[in-house]
Amino acid sequence: MALTTILLTTGLITAVFYDFFRKEILNELKICAEVLQNAGIDSAERRAEMGGAGLNQVRISLIDEQGMVFYDNDVDIGGMDNHKERPEVSDARREGSGQSIRRSDTLDQSAFYYAVLLKDGTILRVAKEASSIWRIFRSAFPVIFLMGVMVFLFCMLLSGRATKMLVAPVEYLADHLDECTEPPVYREMAPFVDRIRRQHEDILKNARLRQEFTANVSHELKTPLAAISGYAELIEHEMASQEDVPRFAGEIHRNASRLLAMINDIIRLSELDVMEADAMVFTQVPLYQMAKACVEMLQVSAGKHQVTLSIRGVPCSILGNREMVEEVLYNLCDNGIRYNAAGGNVAVIVEPEGDKVRLTVEDTGIGIPKAYQERVFERFYRVDKSRSKATGGTGLGLAIVKHIAAQHHAELLLQSEPGCGTRISILFDRANAPDPDRDRKGAALPK
Ligand code: ADP
Repeated sequence: MALTTILLTTGLITAVFYDFFRKEILNELKICAEVLQNAGIDSAERRAEMGGAGLNQVRISLIDEQGMVFYDNDVDIGGMDNHKERPEVSDARREGSGQSIRRSDTLDQSAFYYAVLLKDGTILRVAKEASSIWRIFRSAFPVIFLMGVMVFLFCMLLSGRATKMLVAPVEYLADHLDECTEPPVYREMAPFVDRIRRQHEDILKNARLRQEFTANVSHELKTPLAAISGYAELIEHEMASQEDVPRFAGEIHRNASRLLAMINDIIRLSELDVMEADAMVFTQVPLYQMAKACVEMLQVSAGKHQVTLSIRGVPCSILGNREMVEEVLYNLCDNGIRYNAAGGNVAVIVEPEGDKVRLTVEDTGIGIPKAYQERVFERFYRVDKSRSKATGGTGLGLAIVKHIAAQHHAELLLQSEPGCGTRISILFDRANAPDPDRDRKGAALPK
């Protein structure tokens, strides 16, 4: 930047000075012409008397009415052509005076000219070589160059300092990200530091959650496996009486089913974890129809628990991922049935709400105490562990529901009163586009 500035400034100064000198020289020539005119330069005797004293810096020519040069103090007039058409000469003849800056054919270099018409029709022309200007520039150049170098060095020093000052807090932050003490930041850095710190905390939190999840998974898988292994061992070594064998086989079967259910849920969750929300295909999903199908499918299970499962609302569609919505419906209805009492009810309600659609699953079951209402969405968290296990729960159902709701940017709401029942509702985006072949972003899906 400094270098560019220096070069630009030098260029600009040169231009300004050139203009200034140009005017100055033309003015000088004009005065010179006047002096010469008053001194009677047109008469040969006067010229002889003056002897060219002090005029060697200026070229003086006298041109007659025909344009022939009959006197020149610098060049041999013998070889000179007609000067009638020279711009300054023709101007002087027409207007009394004329000036021009051009290449001189005679001297083969740029020159400044000024010409005046004398009383007897002769034209007096004075000229100065342009090289005089460049000579001034050349003499000024070392000073300009030196100044440029000095400014450049000064700028380097200053920008070096400034850069160090700007970068220091970033370097400090890189080394002390974990420490809570505020780094020495300047005001403009604060949002950046805040954001980095928040992201860093999120990363640490995620790592911790993952670790916890792995530990939980191992633990959760171990329990049914240990049971299966134990019962199988008893049968293997004929330590179980004949009448115990069907019971043990039943236990093995139940634990194996639990294991399978759990592995299915874990796979589902990890799939949801890797899936990027943007990469998901969102289509028009007929929520009411799907809820109805789910209610029909779960009627047997509801019957077993002596629970009445019903649906109400209006047929409407949402923007979503069909498979995921199916999973949400199943998990919520299944929970409503399992955490219910004999003679209880589970109702699925689908209703539009502005440009959204609300899906509600409410039951008259055991409810969730206030203290656990946040935690039931955590992976493997169960309020009543034995009841969850006894009814084939994995502790992952609501975690999956929460995950799917988040990927649909849908609001998830839980209301519950222990002993009275639970209501979980999700607010989905309504599908307005009648064309089911369109995804969320409005682009046509590949066929
Ligand atoms: P689970 O497989 O154990 O049902 P979920 O993640 O579906 O796992 O639910 C977590 C816990 O939340 C359950 O163990 C249960 O204690 C509680 N819960 C979930 N749904 C209900 C409900 N409708 N009524 C009462 N408690 C519920």
